[in-house]
Amino acid sequence: MFIRSVRGNAGLDDFRKEVREFCKEQVPPVVWRKQQRSQHLERHEYDDWLKRLGAKGWLTGRWPKEHGGLAWTPEQFLAFEEELGRVGAPPLITFGFALAGPVIYTFGSPEQKAKYLSDIVRNNTWWCQGYSEPGAGSDLASLKTRAVRVNDHYIVNGQKIWTSYAHWADMMFALVRTNPDVKKQEGISFLLIDMKTPGITIRPIKGITLGHHLNEVFFENVRVPVGNLVGEENKGWTYAKFLLANERIHSVSISKFEAYLEKIRRVLLETKEGGRSLSEDPIFQRRMAELEVGLATVKALMADQLAAARTGSPPMMGAAALKLRGTQLQQSILQTGIDILGRYGLPYQVDALYADWQGDLIGPKESAALIYEHLYRRAASVYSGSNEVQKNIIAKGALGL
Ligand SMILES: Cc1cc2nc3c(=O)[nH]c(=O)nc-3n(C[C@H](O)[C@H](O)[C@H](O)COP(=O)(O)OP(=O)(O)OC[C@H]3O[C@@H](n4cnc5c(N)ncnc54)[C@H](O)[C@@H]3O)c2cc1C
Repeated sequence: MFIRSVRGNAGLDDFRKEVREFCKEQVPPVVWRKQQRSQHLERHEYDDWLKRLGAKGWLTGRWPKEHGGLAWTPEQFLAFEEELGRVGAPPLITFGFALAGPVIYTFGSPEQKAKYLSDIVRNNTWWCQGYSEPGAGSDLASLKTRAVRVNDHYIVNGQKIWTSYAHWADMMFALVRTNPDVKKQEGISFLLIDMKTPGITIRPIKGITLGHHLNEVFFENVRVPVGNLVGEENKGWTYAKFLLANERIHSVSISKFEAYLEKIRRVLLETKEGGRSLSEDPIFQRRMAELEVGLATVKALMADQLAAARTGSPPMMGAAALKLRGTQLQQSILQTGIDILGRYGLPYQVDALYADWQGDLIGPKESAALIYEHLYRRAASVYSGSNEVQKNIIAKGALGL
C-alpha cells in the first residue's frame, strides 16, 4: 500500500530532496515569477521547463529503461508529482510522454520507435490527441474521419474536435476509419500525423475560461505515409483502449492537487472573517481534512494503477475508478477555493492571468488562477471519458451488469 511504503523510505526522501533542489535551480526565473503570480505560461516557457525535465530523464521516469526511461516505481512517480506540486513547478503536459510514447513503444514498428521515442523523452516533439469528433465522444467507435490507402499513403478527410493544444502540437495521434463496412470497432486505425502536413486546418474554440487551449481540426486530403500507421490496419481500437486507460490515470494529476491545496491553504490564512483567519474556522478545517484524506485515497488508488500499468495495459476498470474519484476530488478541492473567494465577491479577473497585466487584483493573488481552474475543471468529469461512462465501466466490470 502506497501510504505505508512511502514513510521512512530513505531512498525516496533523498529523491524528493533532489526534485525540490532541481526545481529551485532549473525552473527558469521568468517561469517562477509567473507561477508565483499564478499566470499562464506560453508554449516556449513550458517547452524550456519540460526540456530541462526531459534532459534529466524525468518526463519519462516511468518508462522502461530499454525505451529511454528510468523504470521508476509507482512510489517514485508519486513522490515526483507531489514535490512538483508542493514547490509550485509548472504542471506536466502529458500527451507525449504518457499517451503517445507508451503506445509507440508497445505497438509501434522499430522505425517508429527510433523516430519518435527519444524526441518524446526530451520533449522535442509536442503531441495532441485526435480522438473525439462531432458525434463521436462517449461513443468514440462511431468516429468517421476517413483514411483511404492510395499506394504508400493514407488520404485523410474529416474532422476532430476538442483537440487540446492542437495549435501547439507538432504531431497528432489520431483514430481514423479505414474500413466502414465492418463492426465499427473493427474498422479503425491508429495514425501518427505530422501537423504541418498540407490540408490540416486548426480553428480555436474559446471555452468557459475565456482562454484558448481547445480546437477543431479539419483534414482535407491530408497525405499520411503508410509508415505512420501504428500496428496493424483496422486494429486501432485495441491501441486506442490501451491509450485510454493510461489517459484516465494521467487525467488525475497529483502535482496539480498538491498545488491547489497549497494555494487554498494560503488563501484561507489570508482571508479574515470577524478578525480571524478562515484557517481557524472549524468548518474549513474539517473540509481541508476531508480533502487531504481524499487525496491520500486517490494516491493509493493511483499507486495500484501505476503498478498494474508496469506489466502492460492498466486495467480499464481500475483506471475508471481512479478517474472518477480523482476528478470528483479535484472538483471538491476547487469548489472549496471558490467558497473562500466568494467572500471577495468572486470577480473573475481573467486579464490577471497574463504577464503584461498592470491592474489591481480584488482578493488574494491566487484568486484569478483558482477561478480559472474551477471553471476549466468542470470539464474534468467530461474529458478523458465522461464520469457517467466510467461508472458504466465499473458497473460492467465489478458488478457484471
Ligand atoms: C476540456 C476538454 C478537453 C478535451 N480534450 C480532448 C483532446 O485533446 N482530444 C480528444 O480527442 N478529445 C478531447 N476532449 C473530448 C472528450 O473526450 C469528450 O468531450 C468526451 O469523451 C465526451 O464526449 P462528448 O463531449 O461528445 O459528449 P457525449 O458523448 O455526447 O455525452 C454527453 C453526455 O451524455 C452522457 N453519456 C453519453 N453516453 C452515455 C452512456 N452510455 N451512459 C451514460 N451517460 C452517457 C455523458 O456522460 C455526457 O454527460 C476534450 C473535452 C474537453 C471538455
